[in-house]
Amino acid sequence: MNRQTSERLYEQAQQVIVGGVNSPSRSFKAVGGGAPVFMERGEGAYFYDVDGNRYIDYLAAYGPLIHGHGNKHIAEAISKAALNGTLYGTPTTLEIDFATMIRDVIPSMEKIRFVNSGTEAVMTTIRVARAYTGRNKIIKFAGCYHGHSDLVLVAAGSGPSTLGIPDSAGIPQSIADDVITVPFNDLDAYQAAMDKWGDQIAAVLVEPIVGNFGIVMPEHGFLQGVNEITHAHGALVIYDEVITAFRFMYGGAQNLLGVTPDMTALGKIIGGGLPIGAYGGRVDIMEQVAPLGPAYQAGTMAGNPASIAAGIACLGELQKPGTYERMNDLGRLLAEGLKDQARRHGHKVTLNRCGGAFALYFTDRPVKNYEDAKAVDGDKFARFFKLLLDEGILLAPSKYEAWFVSTAHTPEDISFTLQATERVFKAL
Ligand code: PMP
Repeated sequence: MNRQTSERLYEQAQQVIVGGVNSPSRSFKAVGGGAPVFMERGEGAYFYDVDGNRYIDYLAAYGPLIHGHGNKHIAEAISKAALNGTLYGTPTTLEIDFATMIRDVIPSMEKIRFVNSGTEAVMTTIRVARAYTGRNKIIKFAGCYHGHSDLVLVAAGSGPSTLGIPDSAGIPQSIADDVITVPFNDLDAYQAAMDKWGDQIAAVLVEPIVGNFGIVMPEHGFLQGVNEITHAHGALVIYDEVITAFRFMYGGAQNLLGVTPDMTALGKIIGGGLPIGAYGGRVDIMEQVAPLGPAYQAGTMAGNPASIAAGIACLGELQKPGTYERMNDLGRLLAEGLKDQARRHGHKVTLNRCGGAFALYFTDRPVKNYEDAKAVDGDKFARFFKLLLDEGILLAPSKYEAWFVSTAHTPEDISFTLQATERVFKAL
Protein backbone atom coordinates (compact mmCIF):
# COMPACT_ATOMS: atom_id res chain seq x y z
CA MET A 1 0.00 0.00 0.00
CA ASN A 2 1.42 3.34 -1.03
CA ARG A 3 1.65 5.88 1.79
CA GLN A 4 4.12 8.33 0.25
CA THR A 5 2.10 11.41 1.14
CA SER A 6 1.88 10.34 4.79
CA GLU A 7 5.64 9.83 4.79
CA ARG A 8 6.24 13.29 3.36
CA LEU A 9 3.79 14.90 5.80
CA TYR A 10 5.45 13.10 8.71
CA GLU A 11 8.79 14.66 7.74
CA GLN A 12 7.09 18.06 7.61
CA ALA A 13 5.18 17.54 10.87
CA GLN A 14 8.37 16.70 12.73
CA GLN A 15 9.75 20.15 11.86
CA VAL A 16 7.01 21.93 13.80
CA ILE A 17 5.25 19.44 16.07
CA VAL A 18 7.16 17.53 18.71
CA GLY A 19 7.60 13.97 17.48
CA GLY A 20 5.26 14.87 14.60
CA VAL A 21 2.21 13.97 16.71
CA ASN A 22 -0.03 15.77 19.18
CA SER A 23 -0.45 12.72 21.39
CA PRO A 24 2.43 10.25 21.79
CA SER A 25 0.26 7.16 21.38
CA ARG A 26 -0.28 8.17 17.73
CA SER A 27 3.39 7.58 16.95
CA PHE A 28 4.49 4.30 15.39
CA LYS A 29 7.56 4.13 17.63
CA ALA A 30 6.36 0.99 19.44
CA VAL A 31 5.60 -0.88 16.21
CA GLY A 32 8.99 -0.44 14.59
CA GLY A 33 8.77 3.25 13.71
CA GLY A 34 7.89 4.88 10.41
CA ALA A 35 5.30 7.44 9.47
CA PRO A 36 1.92 7.32 11.17
CA VAL A 37 -0.94 7.41 8.69
CA PHE A 38 -2.24 10.91 8.00
CA MET A 39 -6.00 10.70 7.61
CA GLU A 40 -7.97 12.96 5.35
CA ARG A 41 -11.52 12.02 6.26
CA GLY A 42 -13.66 9.47 8.01
CA GLU A 43 -17.01 8.04 7.00
CA GLY A 44 -18.86 5.59 9.24
CA ALA A 45 -16.55 2.67 9.97
CA TYR A 46 -13.97 3.86 7.43
CA PHE A 47 -11.04 6.20 7.25
CA TYR A 48 -9.45 7.53 4.05
CA ASP A 49 -5.81 8.60 4.21
CA VAL A 50 -4.07 11.39 2.31
CA ASP A 51 -2.90 8.86 -0.32
CA GLY A 52 -6.48 7.73 -0.98
CA ASN A 53 -6.23 4.38 0.87
CA ARG A 54 -9.25 3.12 2.79
CA TYR A 55 -9.05 1.57 6.26
CA ILE A 56 -11.64 -0.07 8.49
CA ASP A 57 -11.33 1.71 11.79
CA TYR A 58 -11.03 -0.33 15.02
CA LEU A 59 -9.12 2.47 16.79
CA ALA A 60 -12.23 4.64 17.28
CA ALA A 61 -9.87 7.50 18.24
CA TYR A 62 -8.93 5.49 21.37
CA GLY A 63 -12.57 5.04 22.37
CA PRO A 64 -14.81 8.03 21.78
CA LEU A 65 -16.11 7.18 18.29
CA ILE A 66 -18.78 4.65 19.23
CA HIS A 67 -20.80 5.74 16.18
CA GLY A 68 -17.84 5.83 13.81
CA HIS A 69 -17.03 8.94 11.75
CA GLY A 70 -19.36 11.73 10.66
CA ASN A 71 -22.53 10.45 12.32
CA LYS A 72 -25.31 12.59 10.84
CA HIS A 73 -27.19 13.24 14.09
CA ILE A 74 -24.05 14.25 15.95
CA ALA A 75 -22.78 16.40 13.06
CA GLU A 76 -26.11 18.20 12.85
CA ALA A 77 -26.16 18.83 16.58
CA ILE A 78 -22.66 20.28 16.39
CA SER A 79 -23.49 22.53 13.40
CA LYS A 80 -26.61 23.80 15.11
CA ALA A 81 -24.64 24.56 18.27
CA ALA A 82 -21.87 26.22 16.26
CA LEU A 83 -24.31 28.53 14.47
CA ASN A 84 -25.68 29.61 17.84
CA GLY A 85 -22.18 30.38 19.12
CA THR A 86 -19.79 27.78 20.50
CA LEU A 87 -19.03 29.39 23.84
CA TYR A 88 -20.91 31.70 26.20
CA GLY A 89 -19.16 31.76 29.56
CA THR A 90 -22.63 31.55 31.11
CA PRO A 91 -24.76 28.56 32.07
CA THR A 92 -27.04 27.01 29.42
CA THR A 93 -30.09 24.75 29.40
CA LEU A 94 -28.14 22.14 27.44
CA GLU A 95 -25.87 21.54 30.44
CA ILE A 96 -28.86 20.77 32.69
CA ASP A 97 -30.31 18.43 30.07
CA PHE A 98 -27.05 16.55 29.66
CA ALA A 99 -26.24 16.30 33.38
CA THR A 100 -29.75 14.96 33.97
CA MET A 101 -29.37 12.48 31.13
CA ILE A 102 -26.19 11.14 32.72
CA ARG A 103 -27.45 11.10 36.29
CA ASP A 104 -30.62 9.28 35.23
CA VAL A 105 -28.52 6.33 34.12
CA ILE A 106 -25.53 6.62 36.50
CA PRO A 107 -27.31 7.56 39.74
CA SER A 108 -24.12 7.45 41.84
CA MET A 109 -23.21 10.72 40.06
CA GLU A 110 -25.65 12.67 42.23
CA LYS A 111 -24.01 15.97 41.29
CA ILE A 112 -21.95 16.48 38.15
CA ARG A 113 -19.42 18.98 36.78
CA PHE A 114 -18.37 19.07 33.11
CA VAL A 115 -14.73 19.58 32.19
CA ASN A 116 -12.76 19.25 28.94
CA SER A 117 -10.97 15.92 29.08
CA GLY A 118 -10.68 12.64 30.92
CA THR A 119 -7.41 13.89 32.41
CA GLU A 120 -9.12 16.88 33.99
CA ALA A 121 -12.00 14.77 35.26
CA VAL A 122 -9.77 12.25 37.06
CA MET A 123 -7.35 14.90 38.30
CA THR A 124 -10.21 16.75 39.93
CA THR A 125 -11.79 13.71 41.56
CA ILE A 126 -8.46 13.21 43.33
CA ARG A 127 -8.36 16.82 44.51
CA VAL A 128 -11.94 16.59 45.76
CA ALA A 129 -11.27 13.30 47.54
CA ARG A 130 -8.25 14.85 49.24
CA ALA A 131 -10.33 17.86 50.27
CA TYR A 132 -13.10 15.62 51.60
CA THR A 133 -10.90 13.21 53.55
CA GLY A 134 -8.09 15.56 54.55
CA ARG A 135 -5.63 12.86 53.40
CA ASN A 136 -3.02 12.96 50.64
CA LYS A 137 -2.17 9.50 49.32
CA ILE A 138 -3.96 7.60 46.60
CA ILE A 139 -3.86 4.00 45.45
CA LYS A 140 -3.96 3.04 41.79
CA PHE A 141 -3.69 -0.28 40.00
CA ALA A 142 -0.51 -0.94 38.05
CA GLY A 143 -0.85 -0.44 34.31
CA CYS A 144 -4.06 1.56 34.50
CA TYR A 145 -3.97 4.91 32.74
CA HIS A 146 -5.83 7.83 34.24
CA GLY A 147 -4.70 10.72 32.06
CA HIS A 148 -1.52 12.77 32.21
CA SER A 149 -1.81 14.70 35.47
CA ASP A 150 1.24 14.34 37.73
CA LEU A 151 -0.13 11.98 40.35
CA VAL A 152 -1.33 9.29 38.01
CA LEU A 153 1.70 9.01 35.70
CA VAL A 154 3.16 6.38 37.99
CA ALA A 155 3.03 2.80 36.66
CA ALA A 156 0.75 4.13 33.91
CA GLY A 157 -0.46 1.84 31.14
CA SER A 158 -1.62 2.75 27.63
CA GLY A 159 0.66 5.31 25.88
CA PRO A 160 3.25 5.59 28.70
CA SER A 161 3.75 1.79 28.79
CA THR A 162 3.71 1.54 25.02
CA LEU A 163 6.60 4.01 24.85
CA GLY A 164 8.44 2.42 27.77
CA ILE A 165 7.93 5.34 30.19
CA PRO A 166 5.30 4.18 32.70
CA ASP A 167 6.85 6.51 35.31
CA SER A 168 7.11 9.87 33.58
CA ALA A 169 10.03 12.23 34.06
CA GLY A 170 9.19 15.66 35.42
CA ILE A 171 7.20 14.39 38.36
CA PRO A 172 8.75 15.28 41.71
CA GLN A 173 9.50 12.39 44.04
CA SER A 174 7.35 14.11 46.67
CA ILE A 175 4.34 13.63 44.40
CA ALA A 176 5.20 10.08 43.37
CA ASP A 177 5.53 9.25 47.10
CA ASP A 178 1.81 9.89 47.47
CA VAL A 179 0.89 7.14 45.00
CA ILE A 180 0.78 3.48 45.93
CA THR A 181 0.37 0.93 43.17
CA VAL A 182 -0.97 -2.59 43.52
CA PRO A 183 -1.72 -5.27 40.92
CA PHE A 184 -5.26 -5.34 39.48
CA ASN A 185 -7.36 -8.35 40.47
CA ASP A 186 -5.24 -8.98 43.60
CA LEU A 187 -7.42 -8.32 46.62
CA ASP A 188 -4.80 -9.63 49.06
CA ALA A 189 -2.27 -7.08 47.79
CA TYR A 190 -4.91 -4.38 48.06
CA GLN A 191 -5.76 -5.41 51.61
CA ALA A 192 -2.06 -5.40 52.53
CA ALA A 193 -1.57 -1.89 51.09
CA MET A 194 -4.60 -0.60 52.95
CA ASP A 195 -3.47 -2.27 56.19
CA LYS A 196 -0.21 -0.38 55.87
CA TRP A 197 -1.33 3.06 54.58
CA GLY A 198 -5.13 3.02 55.02
CA ASP A 199 -5.33 5.99 57.39
CA GLN A 200 -3.39 8.16 54.89
CA ILE A 201 -5.32 7.14 51.78
CA ALA A 202 -7.77 9.67 50.33
CA ALA A 203 -9.01 7.44 47.52
CA VAL A 204 -8.44 4.47 45.29
CA LEU A 205 -8.66 4.98 41.52
CA VAL A 206 -10.22 2.08 39.67
CA GLU A 207 -10.87 1.29 36.04
CA PRO A 208 -13.76 -1.09 36.81
CA ILE A 209 -13.05 -2.89 33.55
CA VAL A 210 -9.47 -2.21 32.52
CA GLY A 211 -9.22 -0.62 29.08
CA ASN A 212 -5.59 0.45 29.19
CA PHE A 213 -3.70 -2.80 28.94
CA GLY A 214 -6.16 -4.36 26.58
CA ILE A 215 -9.47 -5.37 28.11
CA VAL A 216 -9.34 -7.00 31.52
CA MET A 217 -12.45 -7.92 33.49
CA PRO A 218 -12.43 -7.71 37.28
CA GLU A 219 -12.47 -11.15 38.86
CA HIS A 220 -15.55 -12.18 40.78
CA GLY A 221 -15.77 -10.23 44.05
CA PHE A 222 -12.72 -8.04 43.36
CA LEU A 223 -14.54 -4.70 43.02
CA GLN A 224 -16.87 -5.49 45.91
CA GLY A 225 -13.81 -6.31 48.02
CA VAL A 226 -12.11 -3.05 47.02
CA ASN A 227 -15.23 -1.11 48.05
CA GLU A 228 -15.45 -2.82 51.45
CA ILE A 229 -11.78 -2.49 52.32
CA THR A 230 -11.61 1.14 51.14
CA HIS A 231 -14.66 2.23 53.09
CA ALA A 232 -13.50 0.38 56.20
CA HIS A 233 -10.47 2.71 56.13
CA GLY A 234 -12.51 5.88 55.58
CA ALA A 235 -11.23 6.37 52.03
CA LEU A 236 -13.19 6.94 48.83
CA VAL A 237 -13.61 4.78 45.75
CA ILE A 238 -13.25 6.64 42.45
CA TYR A 239 -14.20 4.89 39.23
CA ASP A 240 -12.41 6.08 36.14
CA GLU A 241 -15.05 5.28 33.54
CA VAL A 242 -13.48 7.43 30.84
CA ILE A 243 -13.26 4.39 28.55
CA THR A 244 -15.93 2.16 30.02
CA ALA A 245 -19.00 4.40 30.39
CA PHE A 246 -21.52 3.83 27.58
CA ARG A 247 -19.09 1.43 25.92
CA PHE A 248 -20.67 -1.88 26.99
CA MET A 249 -24.20 -0.78 27.85
CA TYR A 250 -26.20 2.40 28.16
CA GLY A 251 -24.66 3.46 31.46
CA GLY A 252 -21.38 2.78 33.20
CA ALA A 253 -19.45 -0.39 33.91
CA GLN A 254 -20.76 0.21 37.44
CA ASN A 255 -24.27 -0.53 36.13
CA LEU A 256 -23.06 -3.63 34.32
CA LEU A 257 -21.14 -4.98 37.31
CA GLY A 258 -23.52 -3.89 40.05
CA VAL A 259 -20.98 -1.96 42.12
CA THR A 260 -21.19 1.65 43.25
CA PRO A 261 -18.28 4.07 43.67
CA ASP A 262 -18.27 7.31 45.64
CA MET A 263 -17.14 9.32 42.63
CA THR A 264 -16.91 8.72 38.88
CA ALA A 265 -14.90 10.30 36.08
CA LEU A 266 -16.17 10.27 32.50
CA GLY A 267 -14.86 11.39 29.10
CA LYS A 268 -14.47 10.06 25.53
CA ILE A 269 -17.89 8.67 24.38
CA ILE A 270 -19.92 11.29 26.27
CA GLY A 271 -18.46 14.00 24.00
CA GLY A 272 -19.61 12.38 20.76
CA GLY A 273 -16.14 13.05 19.29
CA LEU A 274 -15.62 16.55 20.74
CA PRO A 275 -13.48 17.34 23.81
CA ILE A 276 -15.22 16.65 27.10
CA GLY A 277 -14.88 15.18 30.55
CA ALA A 278 -17.19 15.01 33.54
CA TYR A 279 -16.91 14.06 37.15
CA GLY A 280 -19.50 13.54 39.80
CA GLY A 281 -20.45 11.66 42.90
CA ARG A 282 -22.18 11.77 46.23
CA VAL A 283 -23.65 15.16 47.10
CA ASP A 284 -21.73 15.52 50.37
CA ILE A 285 -18.47 14.90 48.51
CA MET A 286 -19.26 17.10 45.51
CA GLU A 287 -20.17 19.96 47.86
CA GLN A 288 -16.44 20.34 48.43
CA VAL A 289 -16.21 21.88 44.97
CA ALA A 290 -16.22 25.69 44.45
CA PRO A 291 -18.41 27.75 44.54
CA LEU A 292 -20.00 25.60 47.30
CA GLY A 293 -16.79 24.42 48.93
CA PRO A 294 -13.06 25.03 49.24
CA ALA A 295 -11.79 22.70 46.45
CA TYR A 296 -11.20 24.82 43.35
CA GLN A 297 -11.81 23.62 39.79
CA ALA A 298 -12.77 25.73 36.80
CA GLY A 299 -12.71 25.86 33.00
CA THR A 300 -13.22 28.51 30.33
CA MET A 301 -14.33 25.85 27.84
CA ALA A 302 -16.16 23.63 30.33
CA GLY A 303 -19.72 22.75 29.36
CA ASN A 304 -19.37 24.44 25.97
CA PRO A 305 -22.52 24.08 23.86
CA ALA A 306 -20.80 22.25 20.99
CA SER A 307 -19.42 19.41 23.13
CA ILE A 308 -22.59 19.14 25.17
CA ALA A 309 -24.81 19.06 22.07
CA ALA A 310 -22.57 16.40 20.51
CA GLY A 311 -22.74 14.38 23.73
CA ILE A 312 -26.54 14.57 23.93
CA ALA A 313 -26.82 13.44 20.30
CA CYS A 314 -24.32 10.64 20.84
CA LEU A 315 -26.13 9.24 23.88
CA GLY A 316 -29.45 9.70 22.07
CA GLU A 317 -28.18 7.45 19.29
CA LEU A 318 -27.04 4.87 21.85
CA GLN A 319 -30.54 4.69 23.33
CA LYS A 320 -31.92 3.17 20.14
CA PRO A 321 -33.09 -0.42 20.68
CA GLY A 322 -30.64 -3.15 19.75
CA THR A 323 -27.56 -0.87 19.63
CA TYR A 324 -25.48 -2.70 22.20
CA GLU A 325 -26.70 -6.13 21.12
CA ARG A 326 -25.46 -5.40 17.60
CA MET A 327 -22.03 -4.23 18.79
CA ASN A 328 -21.80 -7.27 21.05
CA ASP A 329 -22.72 -9.65 18.20
CA LEU A 330 -20.18 -8.10 15.83
CA GLY A 331 -17.51 -8.01 18.54
CA ARG A 332 -18.07 -11.69 19.27
CA LEU A 333 -18.05 -12.63 15.58
CA LEU A 334 -14.76 -10.84 15.02
CA ALA A 335 -13.08 -11.93 18.24
CA GLU A 336 -14.08 -15.59 17.85
CA GLY A 337 -13.00 -15.51 14.22
CA LEU A 338 -9.57 -14.10 15.13
CA LYS A 339 -9.06 -16.68 17.85
CA ASP A 340 -9.94 -19.49 15.53
CA GLN A 341 -7.67 -18.23 12.74
CA ALA A 342 -4.76 -17.68 15.11
CA ARG A 343 -5.08 -21.23 16.42
CA ARG A 344 -5.30 -22.73 12.93
CA HIS A 345 -2.14 -20.91 11.89
CA GLY A 346 -0.27 -21.95 15.02
CA HIS A 347 -0.16 -18.61 16.85
CA LYS A 348 -0.72 -18.59 20.59
CA VAL A 349 -3.23 -15.91 21.54
CA THR A 350 -5.41 -14.93 24.47
CA LEU A 351 -8.55 -13.00 23.77
CA ASN A 352 -10.32 -10.86 26.39
CA ARG A 353 -13.63 -9.36 25.31
CA CYS A 354 -16.48 -7.36 26.74
CA GLY A 355 -19.25 -6.50 24.27
CA GLY A 356 -17.85 -4.79 21.18
CA ALA A 357 -14.42 -4.18 22.75
CA PHE A 358 -11.69 -6.77 22.94
CA ALA A 359 -7.95 -7.34 23.18
CA LEU A 360 -5.98 -9.90 21.22
CA TYR A 361 -2.77 -10.70 23.11
CA PHE A 362 0.07 -12.70 21.60
CA THR A 363 0.54 -15.01 24.57
CA ASP A 364 -0.71 -18.41 25.65
CA ARG A 365 -1.29 -17.23 29.22
CA PRO A 366 -4.38 -15.57 30.67
CA VAL A 367 -4.10 -11.78 31.00
CA LYS A 368 -5.49 -10.64 34.34
CA ASN A 369 -3.13 -7.82 35.26
CA TYR A 370 -0.41 -5.53 33.95
CA GLU A 371 2.42 -8.04 34.45
CA ASP A 372 0.55 -10.51 32.24
CA ALA A 373 0.02 -7.82 29.58
CA LYS A 374 3.67 -6.74 29.67
CA ALA A 375 4.73 -10.31 28.89
CA VAL A 376 2.83 -10.27 25.58
CA ASP A 377 4.99 -10.59 22.44
CA GLY A 378 5.36 -6.98 21.27
CA ASP A 379 7.48 -7.81 18.21
CA LYS A 380 4.85 -10.16 16.92
CA PHE A 381 2.16 -7.57 17.54
CA ALA A 382 4.22 -5.00 15.62
CA ARG A 383 4.42 -7.30 12.57
CA PHE A 384 0.71 -8.12 12.87
CA PHE A 385 -0.15 -4.41 13.07
CA LYS A 386 1.85 -3.47 9.96
CA LEU A 387 0.52 -6.37 7.90
CA LEU A 388 -3.03 -5.42 8.87
CA LEU A 389 -2.41 -1.79 7.99
CA ASP A 390 -1.43 -2.84 4.48
CA GLU A 391 -4.70 -4.78 4.29
CA GLY A 392 -6.62 -1.59 5.15
CA ILE A 393 -7.36 -2.41 8.79
CA LEU A 394 -6.43 0.20 11.37
CA LEU A 395 -5.67 -0.68 15.01
CA ALA A 396 -3.91 1.34 17.69
CA PRO A 397 -0.13 1.00 17.22
CA SER A 398 0.32 -0.66 20.61
CA LYS A 399 0.08 -4.15 22.07
CA TYR A 400 -1.71 -2.58 25.05
CA GLU A 401 -4.73 -1.09 23.26
CA ALA A 402 -8.14 -2.60 22.58
CA TRP A 403 -10.08 -3.05 19.35
CA PHE A 404 -13.40 -1.15 19.34
CA VAL A 405 -16.39 -2.14 17.24
CA SER A 406 -18.76 0.79 16.63
CA THR A 407 -22.41 1.09 15.64
CA ALA A 408 -21.15 1.95 12.14
CA HIS A 409 -19.54 -1.46 11.55
CA THR A 410 -21.54 -4.00 9.56
CA PRO A 411 -21.35 -7.80 9.27
CA GLU A 412 -19.73 -7.17 5.86
CA ASP A 413 -16.96 -5.13 7.51
CA ILE A 414 -16.33 -7.97 9.92
CA SER A 415 -16.10 -10.55 7.15
CA PHE A 416 -13.81 -8.24 5.11
CA THR A 417 -11.64 -7.92 8.22
CA LEU A 418 -11.57 -11.67 8.82
CA GLN A 419 -10.53 -12.33 5.22
CA ALA A 420 -7.65 -9.91 5.73
CA THR A 421 -6.63 -11.39 9.09
CA GLU A 422 -6.68 -14.89 7.61
CA ARG A 423 -3.93 -13.77 5.18
CA VAL A 424 -2.11 -11.88 7.93
CA PHE A 425 -2.00 -14.80 10.38
CA LYS A 426 -0.75 -16.99 7.56
CA ALA A 427 2.06 -14.57 6.70
CA LEU A 428 2.98 -13.81 10.30
N1 PMP B 1 -8.77 7.67 32.01
C1 PMP B 1 -8.81 6.62 31.18
C2 PMP B 1 -9.31 5.30 31.68
C3 PMP B 1 -8.40 6.76 29.86
O1 PMP B 1 -8.42 5.71 29.04
C4 PMP B 1 -7.98 8.03 29.40
C5 PMP B 1 -7.53 8.26 27.96
N2 PMP B 1 -7.04 7.18 27.28
C6 PMP B 1 -7.97 9.08 30.30
C7 PMP B 1 -8.38 8.88 31.59
C8 PMP B 1 -7.53 10.46 29.88
O2 PMP B 1 -8.48 11.04 29.05
P1 PMP B 1 -8.06 12.23 28.05
O3 PMP B 1 -7.13 11.67 27.06
O4 PMP B 1 -9.38 12.69 27.49
O5 PMP B 1 -7.44 13.30 28.89
